[in-house]
Amino acid sequence: MLIDSHCHLDRINIDRYDGSLANAIAAANERGIQQMLCISVTLDNIQTVIDIAQTHPCVVASVGVHPCDVKEGTATEEQLIRWASQEKVVALGETGLDYYHKTEGHYETESKELQHESFALHLSAGKKIGLPVVVHTREAKADTLALIKAHGSLEHSGVLHCFTEDWEMARAALDLNYYISISGIVTFKNAEQIRDVVRNMPIDRLLIETDSPYLAPIPYRGKPNEPKYVREVAQFVADLKGMSIEKLGEHTCDNFYRLFNKAKQYLPA
Ligand SMILES: [Zn+2]
Ligand SMILES: [Zn+2]
Repeated sequence: MLIDSHCHLDRINIDRYDGSLANAIAAANERGIQQMLCISVTLDNIQTVIDIAQTHPCVVASVGVHPCDVKEGTATEEQLIRWASQEKVVALGETGLDYYHKTEGHYETESKELQHESFALHLSAGKKIGLPVVVHTREAKADTLALIKAHGSLEHSGVLHCFTEDWEMARAALDLNYYISISGIVTFKNAEQIRDVVRNMPIDRLLIETDSPYLAPIPYRGKPNEPKYVREVAQFVADLKGMSIEKLGEHTCDNFYRLFNKAKQYLPA
């Protein structure tokens, strides 16, 4: 059994499933992906993401505003807490800091400050209501760790998703009780740094994800990604860890339910 711990189901391409998201989810279920965490990124899509989780029994949701979208509008702590109190919402996010996407005009002083504010708000909301936080971090190592330290919770920690940083950053996150989630990027040729992190990581802190529709793993690189391809990520990570995919699945599912402890385990009929 596998879980896709980070996907954007409202954005995946469902043309090949006759426009049916249910069919795309079923295709993942058929490949042993039993559950999915669907992540919101903008104020506009939060309700859509909650609706998807409420419609599909194997889907749970996370509510938040992505650091690259804060200029379009940020949520108040009150709003976050209200959304996060719904039954199938198991986390805050994705939130965090992204100093990488300069070209799209996201990295301006104003946006950087907004990113900090919004991230701190998600962290403190999570702490208040006892939910973990899904963190997006790119080229913002020191600030990410400092904000988690200042506003986050050790007990209800979170995950650094789609991890692309080095082992030093991973180890600092482990010290804050955080988990590390590995996406299809680990299969890319130039991703030796991430493979190194996977080799070093304690198995009880690893998660796997697709981040679909983005970042399809090899051999689907460049094509639209979807939750069923988390199997390719799992196989690759299992090989790096020298264990079977079944064993890796057991560990990463245990980790998922330990971190996202509001998620009820879904067992297909
Ligand atoms: Zn992200
Ligand atoms: Zn994402």
